[in-house]
Amino acid sequence: MSDSKKPALLPALLTMKCPSCRQSTVFVNKSIFPLGKCLALKDECEVCGERMKSESNNGGGINYALTMMLFFLNLLWYWPIFGLSYKDYSVFYYLIVSTVVVVLMQPYLMRLSRMLYLYIYIGFGHSRRVVQD
Ligand SMILES: [Zn+2]
Repeated sequence: MSDSKKPALLPALLTMKCPSCRQSTVFVNKSIFPLGKCLALKDECEVCGERMKSESNNGGGINYALTMMLFFLNLLWYWPIFGLSYKDYSVFYYLIVSTVVVVLMQPYLMRLSRMLYLYIYIGFGHSRRVVQD
């Protein structure tokens, strides 16, 4: 596999592609539904054979960081639109709105956490099959 064919990292990461070849998807279901299986990983990549379950994939810490980041991002759009003040209940409304957004985004965040974890620990061309080509 030549470097010119190497797919870009960020689009591959956001579309949940294999960290090693960036061609095949990592998750069993493309959609996050059904939610119960939204984190189900393939045993190995169909394209390069990279094992997805070989690492003890625990994106928990990353997930926490992403959740905090989302709270902050919510602040960035909530503040200019609705305003934040301790004089009224706007802070509480912000917290409620943020919590709802975070909960709704949670399946995607958890997937992204796993993806980040895989990308950190596997990296492009990690699979033996990719290296041999
Ligand atoms: Zn692959």
